[in-house]
Amino acid sequence: MRFDVVTIFPEVVEPYLQKGILRRAIEEKRISVCVHQLREFSPLKGGRVDAPIVGHGKGMLFRPEPLSEAVRRIKGPEGQVVLLSPQGERFTAGIARELARVPQLVLVSARYEGVDTRFVHRYVDREISIGDFVLMGGELPALCVIEAVTRFVGEVLETEAVEGESFESGLLEYDHYTEPAEFEGIGIPEVLKSGNHQRVSAWRYENAVAKTYRRRPDLFAEYMPPLPEAGTLRRLRKRNEMMRKFLNVIQKTVKEWKDGREHESE
Ligand code: SAM
Repeated sequence: MRFDVVTIFPEVVEPYLQKGILRRAIEEKRISVCVHQLREFSPLKGGRVDAPIVGHGKGMLFRPEPLSEAVRRIKGPEGQVVLLSPQGERFTAGIARELARVPQLVLVSARYEGVDTRFVHRYVDREISIGDFVLMGGELPALCVIEAVTRFVGEVLETEAVEGESFESGLLEYDHYTEPAEFEGIGIPEVLKSGNHQRVSAWRYENAVAKTYRRRPDLFAEYMPPLPEAGTLRRLRKRNEMMRKFLNVIQKTVKEWKDGREHESE
C-alpha cells in the first residue's frame, strides 16, 4: 500500500516515519510513504500556495491550482484523495480498516484556514477529521491516518495483536497488568494469575463490557455480543446460552456501576 502526503512541512512528517513499526513496515516494503512539498507544484512565483479568503474577514487559504496539480501528478488510477479536515467524517478503526484496502491514499494536509472549496469538489474523495477539535495543520492527522491504516495492512501486525484491541469487537480493551505483582499497595486480580484460560477470558470479557458501559455508552449502545449462526437446534441452544451469559454480565456491570456511583456521592 502506498501513502502520499502533500504538505508545506515535509520535515514535520518525515522523522515520525523513521521509528517503530512504521519504519519496519516501510523497510519490509509492506507500505511506502512519499512526502511531497506542495510548493513544488505551484505555478506561481516563489512556489506560493496561499491567497486571502474572498469576502470580508481575515485569513488565508491554500489555493486550488498547486493542490490540483499535485493530485494530477501523484495520484495513480486506483488512488483516493483524502483531505484532512476538522469538517470531515470522524476517523474510526472501521474507516482505517476500509482505507487499508485502497492501493494508494493521497493525504492532503492543509494549513491556515484550509483549502479552496473548488479543489474539494473536484479532487477530494473523502474528508477525514481525527476529532472534534481544530489543529494548526493536517500533518499530525495525516500521520494518525497512516499509522492507524498501516495496522490493518496485511502482516504488518500479527493477527492476535489486533484481535483483542479496543474497537475490534465493538468494546474497549480489558485492563492489563504486568510486573511487579504489587505496585504501591495494589495487587493483580487473582484470576489472571490462575493459569485457567477460560476463567481469564471470562474475566477479560466482563472487564471490557463494564469499562465500555462506563466510559463509552455510545459504543455500548451499538454493541452486540458475537453469536454463532443460528440453525440447528444445538447451535440455537448455544446462541441462547451466550445471550444469557451476556445479559448476566450486563446486569452485574450495571449493578456494580450504580453501586459505585451511589458510593461516590455519599
Ligand atoms: N478553518 C478550518 C475550520 O474551521 O474548519 C480549520 C483549519 S485548521 C486551522 C488548518 C488545517 O489543519 C485544516 O485545513 C486541516 O488540514 C488540519 N486540521 C485541523 N484540525 C483537524 C482535525 N481535527 N482533523 C483533521 N485535520 C485537521
